Amino acid sequence: MFPNNFAYRAPETLEEALDLLEANPWDGKLLAGGHSLLPMMKLRMAAPELLIDINKIEELKGISEQDGYLRIGALTHHSDLERNLQLVPVYPLLARTARWIADPSIRNRGTVAGSLVHADPASDWGTTMLALHAEVEVASKSGRRRIAIDDFFVDTFTTALNEGELVSAVYVPTPTGEPHARYMKLERKAGDFAIVGLALQVETDMNGVVSQAGIGICACGPTPLRAVEAEQALVGQSLTADVIKHVSGLVSHSAEPTSDLRGTAEYKRDLLRVFARRALTEIRAEQSGEERVS
Ligand SMILES: Cc1cc2nc3c(=O)[nH]c(=O)nc-3n(C[C@H](O)[C@H](O)[C@H](O)COP(=O)(O)OP(=O)(O)OC[C@H]3O[C@@H](n4cnc5c(N)ncnc54)[C@H](O)[C@@H]3O)c2cc1C
Repeated sequence: MFPNNFAYRAPETLEEALDLLEANPWDGKLLAGGHSLLPMMKLRMAAPELLIDINKIEELKGISEQDGYLRIGALTHHSDLERNLQLVPVYPLLARTARWIADPSIRNRGTVAGSLVHADPASDWGTTMLALHAEVEVASKSGRRRIAIDDFFVDTFTTALNEGELVSAVYVPTPTGEPHARYMKLERKAGDFAIVGLALQVETDMNGVVSQAGIGICACGPTPLRAVEAEQALVGQSLTADVIKHVSGLVSHSAEPTSDLRGTAEYKRDLLRVFARRALTEIRAEQSGEERVS
């Protein structure tokens, strides 16, 4: 199907893009990778009169460490994080997540910020940014503000962005302990959205005790969700078999899966338990040097 007619502008500065957004509050839409917006337009679920292509804006590009955070520019592609091996030792969850998203052509065009703003409950980045306790930086004509990722997802396809605001970057806190991470996902077929997914990162101290934990749940509710109880149960613990079993059982307490063609709610809850147990067991092996950190 073809989309409705639309006008197209490609500003080269953030200021210009914000002017266009302000002038077109209802009928203007930002275009990043286009891999969520264009399908929506073709299905006539979205019919913007103006597309504001932000791909030329240098300020929205790049990845850098600053003030205890990794700043991921809004136009960072999924593949930029998949292939950046320098980031892997400190931010292992980024590459582990990126490789699960769709296929290489989508990973080359789709952006982290576009994925977050689209706010699909099955967004792999949404799930991972929860596990990483990230913050979303937002720019508008009146300045910048940061939104904690827990406050960013309001509902399915709905975020806390106000009219005239765009996402300029995502900030991931730099770990203070030793980071270990896994992304687990069950797909109907390779490259598909998750039936169920789980992002898990722990930071451990010199004795292997967990000092910080983050667990995101994918495709089990109206938005990506945080497994709060399981996170709390991990902090202060070593990854013994008993702790892993206990924590894995807690993850689904925070999930709200529904039964559909891809599986029953009960099946999805059990998948979360299995994914958490598998992730933590692999991390325990990694800690003891049985498995190479990739
Ligand atoms: C076949 C297929 C399979 C896919 N599989 C997966 C998958 O397995 N896992 C997964 O997580 N995703 C998947 N996706 C989605 C993909 O990751 C998209 O790239 C992503 O969701 C949107 O990013 P984008 O840059 O393409 O955004 P766009 O499509 O350009 O924009 C999406 C929305 O965000 C807005 N927007 C974009 N950038 C900004 C910004 N900086 N500030 C404010 N608003 C902005 C747009 O206006 C639009 O409303 C898939 C997509 C396709 C087509």
